[in-house]
Amino acid sequence: MQVKFLDLLKVNEPYFPKLLESTQRFFEGGWYILGKETEAFEKEYADFCGSKHCIAVSNGLDALRLIFESYKSLGKIKTGDEVIVPSNTYIATILGITQSGLKPILVEPDISTYNLDSQKVEKAITKNTKAILTVHLYGQLSDMAPLENICKKHGLYLFEDAAQSQGASYKDGRISGNLSEAAGHSFYPGKNLGALGDAGAVTTSNDEVANTIKALRNYGSHKKYYNIYEGFNMRLDENQAAWLRIKLHGLNEENEKRRKLALIYDNTLKLKNLIVPKQAEYGKHIYHIYAVLHPKRDKLQSYLLENGIQTLIHYPVPPHKQKAFQSWNNLSFPIAEKIHEQELSLPMSPVHTVEEIEYVCDTINHFKE
Ligand SMILES: *Cc1c(COP(=O)(O)O)cnc(C)c1O
Repeated sequence: MQVKFLDLLKVNEPYFPKLLESTQRFFEGGWYILGKETEAFEKEYADFCGSKHCIAVSNGLDALRLIFESYKSLGKIKTGDEVIVPSNTYIATILGITQSGLKPILVEPDISTYNLDSQKVEKAITKNTKAILTVHLYGQLSDMAPLENICKKHGLYLFEDAAQSQGASYKDGRISGNLSEAAGHSFYPGKNLGALGDAGAVTTSNDEVANTIKALRNYGSHKKYYNIYEGFNMRLDENQAAWLRIKLHGLNEENEKRRKLALIYDNTLKLKNLIVPKQAEYGKHIYHIYAVLHPKRDKLQSYLLENGIQTLIHYPVPPHKQKAFQSWNNLSFPIAEKIHEQELSLPMSPVHTVEEIEYVCDTINHFKE
């Protein structure tokens, strides 16, 4: 049997008739950027997350950047301020901070959830710390209550990188994207809510922040040809917005399918040294990625490929070991390093079959450790 890591054609195929219909409307409408479809998607996605505002933007990195740029434009944060961020995150989280002229402070995750460890966060706070950007990595939410307490105590802003967690719910019923002052979302095609190209959004319930981001994504202009900020071009296309509206309808059901497949992995994988993801008690994991750890990760990955099973590594190099961040190369983050050495992402999507997942489990269970 051949098992792909992710088959995007198969993921999008059920939506084709509706996507084609909307494309026809898009052609006939003759309006291409920031129009009715974008406005409708913004309203629908804000409602989905439970936040007051959604501002649709070009991609997830720009969404994070716009959050920081808006806080700077509003005088809440200034160049050089420190932002605490997990040491094991995807590089785009870090770039959102550095591109805004802010300083990322890497803090180790909790090894059981892969998300920020609040005790270590508190120790990393200095007089220059202004914000925490937590990442709901692999689709598992961060535990927000302890982070909220730290932010209250130290007067910090709390933000989410919600690129991997569309639709994940916290124990109190709140949804990813509505768990902080502002959240950056990515609709990169492979994400749980994927566009057919690049797309992203910011959600927030703060009117002032929402208004500022709306201007910043469009050259700093609220009104055409009148600019109050030195802004950006970080807008969303109308066709992407229309397609996202259609795919949003399927998101909760697709997340449930992922959760069912994850449960099969959880219950069937028996390899002695394999660590399966922990479903934290404070929130519902939506398994953007089904991440396991194994001390012989590379050997396991080659063995699976020989047996027709594609896997990926999220991610092979931690941010502090990247060439782009040479000043960090000598720092030591043992938990992040262990995750990057041992992590393997197993096939996971709403269109994988039970048979495929059972075959992956059976193959893994026969691996000679
Ligand atoms: C995908 C991703 C991003 C960036 O999103 P793009 O739309 O690709 O720019 C940021 N953070 C995390 C954690 C991601 O997974």
